[in-house]
Parts: sequence; C-alpha cells; structure tokens
Amino acid sequence: MGNDISTEQSDPSIPPRSLASRDIDGVAQFILEGRAKRIVVLTGAGLSTSAGIPDFRSPETGLYANLARLDLPSPEAVFDISYFRSKPEPFYVLAKELYPGHFFPTVAHSFISLLNEKDLLLQLFTQNIDCLERKAGVPSNKLVEAHGSFATQRCIDCKTQFADDLMKESVIAGSVPHCTVPQCNGLVKPDIVFFGEALPSVFHERIHMLAMADLVIILGTSLAVAPFSTLPQLASEGVPRVMFNRDRVGDIGSRLDDVVLLGDCDEGVRRLADALGWRDELEAAWLEVGGKVKETEVERLRNARPTMSEDELLEAEINKITAEVESTLKVTDDHVAWVNKALDGSLSTRSTRNPGTLTNEQDLDDPIRNADPVAEQRLVVSRSDKVSSVTSHATLDSSLPQNRPDDFNGSSSKT
Ligand SMILES: [Zn+2]
Repeated sequence: MGNDISTEQSDPSIPPRSLASRDIDGVAQFILEGRAKRIVVLTGAGLSTSAGIPDFRSPETGLYANLARLDLPSPEAVFDISYFRSKPEPFYVLAKELYPGHFFPTVAHSFISLLNEKDLLLQLFTQNIDCLERKAGVPSNKLVEAHGSFATQRCIDCKTQFADDLMKESVIAGSVPHCTVPQCNGLVKPDIVFFGEALPSVFHERIHMLAMADLVIILGTSLAVAPFSTLPQLASEGVPRVMFNRDRVGDIGSRLDDVVLLGDCDEGVRRLADALGWRDELEAAWLEVGGKVKETEVERLRNARPTMSEDELLEAEINKITAEVESTLKVTDDHVAWVNKALDGSLSTRSTRNPGTLTNEQDLDDPIRNADPVAEQRLVVSRSDKVSSVTSHATLDSSLPQNRPDDFNGSSSKT
C-alpha cells in the first residue's frame, strides 16, 4: 500500500458499496437503518479547539510564542519527559492553561455521548488530554485516552499516585507538585503520555475494537501522531469511515465508503444530527454539560487575548513561572534573610539589615556577593516578602532573556 495520500482517492464515479451515497445523508441513512451498532470514534485536538482550548503549537494563541521566549529547545520539549525532569515549570505553565475545569465539552463531544446513550458507541479513542469526553458523559469503559489525561497523576520516580485535590491546588497556585512519600519528593506529573513514554496499556487492550467496528467516525485529528494515526486503517473493508476535519488527512478518501466532510467539527455533527433527526436531543445534551457556559467563556477568551499586549502576555507567563520557581526552591524565611543580608551588603541603597556586620572576608566567601549582577537580580525574585511583585516583574523584564528559570535553578540550591 502506498503512502501518497493524494493519489489514493477513490474514483468518485464508482458508487460506494455500503453507503447509499458518499455524503451526510448516506451516513445518516446507514445509521438509521440500524447498520451501525458498533461505532468507533477517533478524535484529536480539532474536537476541542472550539472549546477554547489553546493549541500550544499554534502561534496565534500566544501561548506557544511565550513559551518559546522562555527558551524551550522546542515547543514539544514541554511534553518531553527528560526535559520535564530537569525543568518542570514550563509544563506547569501550560497545565494551568489546560487544566480541566476551565473548559466545557463541545457539541461534537456531546454527539459522541449521544451515540453512547443510544447504545451505538463501541469505543472512543481520543488523543486529547483535556478530559472533555468524560465531562460530556462518555463512560470510562467506552473511552481510551490514548495519550493519557489530566484525570490522574503520580510521582515520576516512585510512581505513587498523588491526590486530586492537592494536584488541583498546585496547578491553580502555579506551583510544581512534589511527591508526598517521605524521602521521595519526586516530581508529580499528570498521567499524560509524554514524548519518550509508552502509551497506556488500555490502548493496546482495546485496539482490536477497530476491526469490530461497523462505522468509524473521525473527528478533528490530523492523524499525524503514530500509532494513533494507523487506527483508521484497522477498520474492515466495506466499513464506512466518516471524517469531520478541517483538512483531508491520512488515507481517508481512499476507500469507496469513505466520506470526508471538510470544516468545523461542531458544524459537521450538527448537520449529521439534522439528517438523523437528533438535533434537539444533541443540543439538549450539550446544554446539560455546560454548552452555554462554554459559549460565554469562549467569547470572553476571544475578547481578552487580543487586548493583552505582547509584553502583558509575556509578563503573565513569567509571573506564573516565577511563582513556580519560588515554590520549587521552597525558599525558607532563613534563606530569604540570608539572601537579603547578602544583597544589603552589595546594594548600599537597600540597607535593611546590618551590612556593617559583613566583613570583607565574609564577602569573598559569599556566593551571593560574588554572583554576577544578573544573578543578583534573579535572587530578587525569591524575596517575595521583601519586594513587591511589581518590582519583581520589572526586574525580570529588564534582564530578559538571560533571566530564565533554568539558570535560576542552576545557580541556586535547595536550602
Ligand atoms: Zn515519589
């Protein structure tokens, strides 16, 4: 089988085998005739973009640009397990943006839930980590979160599960959570599959369901990430494969019973619901899981983001990272006092301590006094009880791009 998708499209003059027609009406008829009772749904990021979830790869969201300015080696690094191990703060900046609770299911999520209510859903395989499928009402026995999700979390060292409420507190506070097992203190990470990690076993346990499907519906995925991208090919010949997506992707369109519906997922499923006579049920199901709230929230985000200047967006990101770095270092009062003492000695305008008690000899031995000016500015960040947050930000901004959390970590040690 060749991989050149563009040359593999089926001949439009040859009629489909299973469907009456290669369009929405043909798919609706197939379902209404009771020929689709084991539907497998495959979803990706496009399912959730209308929920307002920022795509971190998209330059338009601002998120990517800001993370990039914090010197990630690549946008993907934020989901790289070895990078996370050395520097978890950027991930937690993203986690705060993506954490479940801010977002509500889309109409397309509710369509999948409706399929389940009608006992037509065999399985949903999603690449999304936002838990919106659960929120829409898809039960866990019908759901494979192929790339994991924010639903649970654990220590990356001893693998002990971490409490949901503690996780929520950390994410909201913008702090990096650490394992509560005595002597461990490992980093805690949501059970999201990072690059370099294996897919959850449930993916492999249920992958055979593709071959059992009598209809495959693909929603909002570019089918770019293996092995998920290979799933549509596991559907048996003659089983209709229907894709709702902004672009034609994968080998969809190469089989006689493939239907490609280009455009927005929500719009597409609403058209299908119309053709099925399910539209009222769909809208009711969606409203029940917060559809109206979602609409309002999306509007709010859409209005808020463009009004923030680039500097404000950057400052917001820096602010979050700064808070996380402080927490990671677990700066104690003693440490702050020690830092202040050292700084007071070097900055004559800020003599809140007794600079006179520092002898020249002590100065030479003092790592703070001997640090370069930029390092001194970084340390200002940890003096949250001494310096207002506004001052901290001003200090940070003036020293960008050198002032990075990794440098900060690298030049300081835990007390
Ligand atoms: Zn641990």
